[in-house]
Amino acid sequence: MTHSDFIPYGKQSISDDDIAEVVRVLKSDFLTQGPSVTGFEQAIAERVGAQFAIAGNSATSILHLACLALGVGAGDRVWTSPNTFIASANCARYCGAEVDFVDIDPRTYNLSAEKLEEKLISAKRLNTLPKVVIPVHFAGQSCDMEAIHHLSQAYGFAIIEDASHAIGGQYKGHPIGDCRYSDICVFSFHPVKIITSAEGGMAVTNSTKLAKHIRTHAQQGTTKASDELTQSPGDWYYEQHTLGFNYRMTEMQAALGLSQLSRLDQFIEKRHQQFKYYEKLLKDFPITLPFQAEDTHSSLHLYPILLPEHNKAARKGVFEVLRHAGIGTQVHYIPVHTQPYYQTLGFQLGDFPVAEDYYSRTLSLPLFADLTTAQQERVALILKHALIANRVMSA
Ligand SMILES: *Cc1c(COP(=O)(O)O)cnc(C)c1O
Repeated sequence: MTHSDFIPYGKQSISDDDIAEVVRVLKSDFLTQGPSVTGFEQAIAERVGAQFAIAGNSATSILHLACLALGVGAGDRVWTSPNTFIASANCARYCGAEVDFVDIDPRTYNLSAEKLEEKLISAKRLNTLPKVVIPVHFAGQSCDMEAIHHLSQAYGFAIIEDASHAIGGQYKGHPIGDCRYSDICVFSFHPVKIITSAEGGMAVTNSTKLAKHIRTHAQQGTTKASDELTQSPGDWYYEQHTLGFNYRMTEMQAALGLSQLSRLDQFIEKRHQQFKYYEKLLKDFPITLPFQAEDTHSSLHLYPILLPEHNKAARKGVFEVLRHAGIGTQVHYIPVHTQPYYQTLGFQLGDFPVAEDYYSRTLSLPLFADLTTAQQERVALILKHALIANRVMSA
């Protein structure tokens, strides 16, 4: 098998325009702290309907700053979904907070608003309510934000949406990122995500105070804004007001991201076409295809299939047949609480059974803008062989 036969589960789509934009920046005066980052921030804010956007070198860094901006520190509790990339939980640990999880909905695989309510009721009794809840829009499909927001009002927690998968998605007709149900929403521009800046992330918010806090902390805790300085001896002058980090995005990254943003709708349209084609190709397979909730328009970051409950032991075999045939299937996600690090914090197998059951049976099939129908047909054919070889399906 040549390298080009391999079909990954996700991959960036880079155009000549993207390349030209990065080269243009490389020949310009600014490789960092220039007009491209500002332009990318403004374009994202406009696109998702938020007042402020702050770029950073990754969604992980931005999630960290989002937690800090909401005052998360030692002794606080932050809850998220177990079915996510570790970064959704680690951001709270960076701040010294305790992490806990809320089990997922068995159909959307998103943090369940019902389970959240149950957990809040008992946390209120025990005086262990969370300061922040981080719903993750798994595979690009929005969580039930109206319900989660309602609970945040009743129980007094803040909300950070981890929308790493979800730029361009919608919830109840509104763009994910307008923050009507959250304090801060965070996007990732890692190459497997919907649009890429190679590495990069962005926070959007409608709060002046949170935006300022995030921006200051992304640039070493410093400011040059004239209305914030204690004195103004000259143009060279800046002040450090707090202990921050260097979490800045480069100009090349921003130029790539901005160029990619112009094709966001095209990318999502392609993913929806591929989604429909998989439904057709796989309709007679004894597997569960991804469910799309009413009122959501997913950006379709992932295409997770589920093996039947009684065939879960076959998952490893199916994975291996696919991989050996050059299909880059992957598993999203290993429940975060089962990671050795989180086990040292006291979590155990069995703590979040729906996420664990989902994990034991899932495989993500390739889904990305440049995936061809011929490649999808090959995926379906090899998946059929894999299911037959592992007795999930008869020949
Ligand atoms: C990719 C991802 C992140 C981290 O994004 P980076 O930009 O790679 O730091 C966080 N949360 C989720 C759900 C992700 O998928």
